[in-house]
Amino acid sequence: MRDYTKFYIDGQWVDPAVANPLDVINPATEEVAGKINLGSAADVDRAVAAAKAAFPAFARTSVKERIELLGAIAGEYQKRYNDIAAAITEEMGAPAWLSNQAQAALGIGHIATAIEVLKGYKFDELKGTTLITKEPIGVCAFITPWNWPINQIACKVAPALAVGCTMVLKPSEIAPFSAYIWTEILHAAGVPKGVFNLVNGDGPGVGVALSSHKDVDMVSFTGSTRAGIAVAKNAADTVKRVAQELGGKSPNIVLPDADLVKAVSGGVQSVMMNSGQSCNAPTRMLVPRAKMAEAAAIAKQVAEATTVGDPNGNSAMGPVVSETQWHKIQGLIEQGIKEGATLVAGGPGRPEGLDKGYYVKPTIFADVTNDMTIAREEIFGPVLAMLPYDSGEDAIAIGNDTVYGLAAYVQGEPEHARLVARELRAGQVNINQAGFDLMAPFGGYKQSGNGREWGDHGFADFLEVKAIIGFGEAQAAE
Ligand code: NAD
Repeated sequence: MRDYTKFYIDGQWVDPAVANPLDVINPATEEVAGKINLGSAADVDRAVAAAKAAFPAFARTSVKERIELLGAIAGEYQKRYNDIAAAITEEMGAPAWLSNQAQAALGIGHIATAIEVLKGYKFDELKGTTLITKEPIGVCAFITPWNWPINQIACKVAPALAVGCTMVLKPSEIAPFSAYIWTEILHAAGVPKGVFNLVNGDGPGVGVALSSHKDVDMVSFTGSTRAGIAVAKNAADTVKRVAQELGGKSPNIVLPDADLVKAVSGGVQSVMMNSGQSCNAPTRMLVPRAKMAEAAAIAKQVAEATTVGDPNGNSAMGPVVSETQWHKIQGLIEQGIKEGATLVAGGPGRPEGLDKGYYVKPTIFADVTNDMTIAREEIFGPVLAMLPYDSGEDAIAIGNDTVYGLAAYVQGEPEHARLVARELRAGQVNINQAGFDLMAPFGGYKQSGNGREWGDHGFADFLEVKAIIGFGEAQAAE
């Protein structure tokens, strides 16, 4: 049982202004795995004041000093790697192999990337006699979700530290364990006091206080489009910069010249990974109409071979994160059946033999049309919608017919796939199941967000741009 009831403010573990304990549930057992406190505006005031006080000195640290600091964080992270992975499995149910190989790996990956980018980053550029310099924006507020908890924290904290910002993190109250260990890592690495602060809490209590705080200069939010809109509205009165990484309903276009077995199998596996709880999951598979039956048969086979069970065992898929999510997913599966989609695999109810834990059956729908609820709403569960298309133009039109634009996928002969990729309105397009690229910018078009994270693009949100006109002349005159 984890006692994670303290906050981390100004370099110390402190009690909240007012105790407001919350039980954190392990989704695999439905049992209480630990406790946190939900903070309030008073805790946010304290943490923001610490970040504000630490900013002038930290902003002036040299690139070399910050590379050393990030290096020390990477070293401490390696020591706690297994603790981070175990905490992620316990708090949100990802299978241990996934927590180890992907979830925890992304944390160290973003630290390493920030170091690499920082080594070559050009903060100053002289254009004529004008110096264009990039400076840290100030105090940042980070509000993060539960689905890839350390990835989402690391891809904000590492670049923000790299450029000299100070910050307050509010992780998801549903999955706060790995964030606590992350904070212990930063403390052990010697992050100066006040530079990084942790306040646990929920949206109304801490998220709102952070996004509206007058001394916060920018807020970087990852989560649902609904909450992202609320954050932007709350930030508007103080004209903060707002970076938003929101939802998705990403199309996966299987071209007629694709290797159908490979394309469909890979697509199904990607949707099922992390129990479908990835914002960029390829949840709408677009298939040539003539190949729908064959593709559905392949998808059925892969879904039925996807093992579901104890995340500490060898299963491909663990539970979904919470009872609320479980019910939401069940409702959407039932809606798909009601609206006339063909249920090919899975369906409502628990997988056989799993009476405890928030487990969902790997579910496939075929013959889905793009106006059905399961093609429009983000389900955030292991549910794939397969949609038929009639021509290349039709596929692109269906792919782009969504309020979201986070990711898109194309499978097919490379030259053909490249042409289609250029037509898709999404922040990241993946061709033929290419692996992860930590240097590739990550972020959305349309209602999937604003701004880009990861790699060198991930620095921009944390920087102000200052022009000093006459700087060259002034220098020459000296
Ligand atoms: P959520 O929006 O419910 O919560 C995200 C965070 O926002 C949590 O820390 C929560 O406490 C906080 N929050 C909630 N209401 C708030 C408010 N009014 N003001 C300020 N903060 C508030 O999302 P979730 O359920 O934790 O995560 C799932 C969602 O996140 C999905 O929609 C998914 O697509 C999205 N997501 C997006 C990305 C991306 O990079 N685009 C990555 C992962 C997840």
